[in-house]
Amino acid sequence: MTGNHQHSKLPAGSYRSTCCYCGVGCGIVVHRDRQGKLSVEGDKDHPVNKGMLCSKGMNLHYTVMDTSDRLYYPEMRYHRHMSRQRVSWDQALERTAAVFRQMIAQYGPESVAFYASGQCLTEEYYVVNKLIKGFIGSNNIDTNSRLCMSSAVAAYKLSLGEDSVPGNYDDIEQTDCIFVAGANPAWCHPILWRRIEAAKAKNPNLKIIVSDPRVTQSCAIADIHLQLMPGTDIVLHHAIGRLLIEAGHTDHNFIQQHTEGFTKYRDTVMQRSISSAAAVCGISEHLIYEAAAMLGKAKGFMTMWTMGLNQSAVGVNKNLSLINLNLITGKIGKPGCGPFSLTGQPNAMGGREVGGLSNMLPAHRVLDNPAHRKEVQEFWGGTTISDKPGLTATEMFEALNDGRLKAIWIMCTNPLVSLPDARMAEAALQKAKFVVVQEISSKPETLRYADVVLPAAAWTEKEGTMTNAERRITYLQKVNDAPGEALPDAEIICRFAKKMGYHGFDYENPAAIYAEHCRLTTGTNIDVSGVNYELLKEKRSLQWPYPAGATDHGTPRLFTDHKFYTASTKAIIHSFPDDNRSAPPDPQWPLILTTGRIRDQWHTMSKTGKVSKLKQHIPSPLLEIHPEDAIDRAIREGDIVEISSENGVVRVKAQLSKSIKKGVVFLPMHWGKILDNDLNRANNLTNRLVDKISKQPDLKYTAVQVKLYEKP
Ligand code: SF4
Repeated sequence: MTGNHQHSKLPAGSYRSTCCYCGVGCGIVVHRDRQGKLSVEGDKDHPVNKGMLCSKGMNLHYTVMDTSDRLYYPEMRYHRHMSRQRVSWDQALERTAAVFRQMIAQYGPESVAFYASGQCLTEEYYVVNKLIKGFIGSNNIDTNSRLCMSSAVAAYKLSLGEDSVPGNYDDIEQTDCIFVAGANPAWCHPILWRRIEAAKAKNPNLKIIVSDPRVTQSCAIADIHLQLMPGTDIVLHHAIGRLLIEAGHTDHNFIQQHTEGFTKYRDTVMQRSISSAAAVCGISEHLIYEAAAMLGKAKGFMTMWTMGLNQSAVGVNKNLSLINLNLITGKIGKPGCGPFSLTGQPNAMGGREVGGLSNMLPAHRVLDNPAHRKEVQEFWGGTTISDKPGLTATEMFEALNDGRLKAIWIMCTNPLVSLPDARMAEAALQKAKFVVVQEISSKPETLRYADVVLPAAAWTEKEGTMTNAERRITYLQKVNDAPGEALPDAEIICRFAKKMGYHGFDYENPAAIYAEHCRLTTGTNIDVSGVNYELLKEKRSLQWPYPAGATDHGTPRLFTDHKFYTASTKAIIHSFPDDNRSAPPDPQWPLILTTGRIRDQWHTMSKTGKVSKLKQHIPSPLLEIHPEDAIDRAIREGDIVEISSENGVVRVKAQLSKSIKKGVVFLPMHWGKILDNDLNRANNLTNRLVDKISKQPDLKYTAVQVKLYEKP
């Protein structure tokens, strides 16, 4: 059980860490032999994975041991037409500081920005957020978490009053039903999925419902697969809500005492008949009835989701419509119950704890609250914190394009593969006056545009903390030294801050940064003032909140008293229309493209792409297309097809598959530019439409055409 895990002492040469890929947050033991060779195994004492690792995690050591692509030294150039030269850290940081100072003096603090990553450690996030918000005086920091979790964050805040996942992984073993919406955890959160498979094997009464336009690996154990059209999730969730109400499966007392907004919600969901919902979603009516009955009869159910709901022009409403199912049935704050967003990245949660997004402040404080700004400003002792939200991920690149933003510092992320409308992002970096890239690898496309390159330490080469999807903080030990002159990301930022003349960045070590972060959370809903490195080393992991004086392993479940973080302490059941805002297919662009991950690759492949074993599963990008859509276009298996949208073109091999819904095509998002050829890059096609509240891009819905390009 969560609260009782112990951990054994490790022999010399073995270190405890956490997997740096997905938000499941598996514990890893890294072994280092006398020759410095690394190997990894799942940490049997870690409550998340209990010794298991997926294909990506079990090959992690290769990504560190293969240093052939690593950046060893800082590099710099004075003009775009020059090639970069090796320089010292002092030279690189002094010039960067001089350029930043000049930009800020000439164009204001909003002329510079930092674009970071959900793979940064909490300490790294903390110092870069402090630097720009507390000392430069702009809120221009965003991360690739904007592409990942921001819709879920906004929905939690709107419905529960706080960005807080209510339950924990142990709920899997205590639930009767799991509704997996817009996610393929069997491939993208594999160890979590193994826990679900094991729970189902033990308890045949555990029901699994999956909604997805594709028959994914997660459907293999599903009792019901709702193969809906992209963009119709709200229609489906509202229809299920209607059936739960009509069948009397709602929790009247819970609704009365602990929620607001039910009457309007009931009126909203009654507006569309189930047959109409089935027609819009492209699924049979009886499956909606069956799914609703399964949820309605369950003593406890969990809703789980990721990018199918988040990466949408109506991502926040998709999230809210699913969370509403937990609220109207009172299935929250109890064992085996609750909405549970599966985090894409390993430390997206930690990044939010320190406020590392353009609209947040540390400890989930908000920019538009003057008291919050004052608290943080006084704590940091820097400049006035601006009340103006900073630029989000896509806005940063738009602002580079139109000249509002002059300088960008990109750390630990590869936006030229991961951002929508990637060709526009590339044009934006070309136009930028100054680009700093802080990276471990020489491979990412961003290097081409970098005026200054700062070599960073990789996963085992630094210490720090990460927080997984169930609010669990785990400490990562340093195992080996970084190659050449590469430095931990937090140290790079602190050295730069000092070159800028800012005080408060003279930390003795990462533990001191973490201690400062913990102090700043005191008295907030995510209070971790009782956490420190020594405790994390002793207890292995802790779940927040963990205020000073807390004992055991923290807080496995929130809202057990049904008091929420809203002003009224009641959860809010939101109502809204069920329509989508994406540009629908038309005769010119008749198919819907959805993008996503494959089993053995991670994001833009800068780590997993180095491991030959991981390339064997799917070695190159393929367009998944329904055979009927292929026949209409004279396309056969293995043909090279051209996929086009309003934004660009991609050419890859076709894979004919009845697993995908007719009218929908799928491309993996991992591949970028190879030399000058960008025709593998899925994000050439996607557009920059974002959710109005979360500003998360609509990556799961692009109207495209597919044509035969050439026969093999
Ligand atoms: Fe790493 Fe996620 Fe696999 Fe666990 S499930 S080993 S955290 S990639």
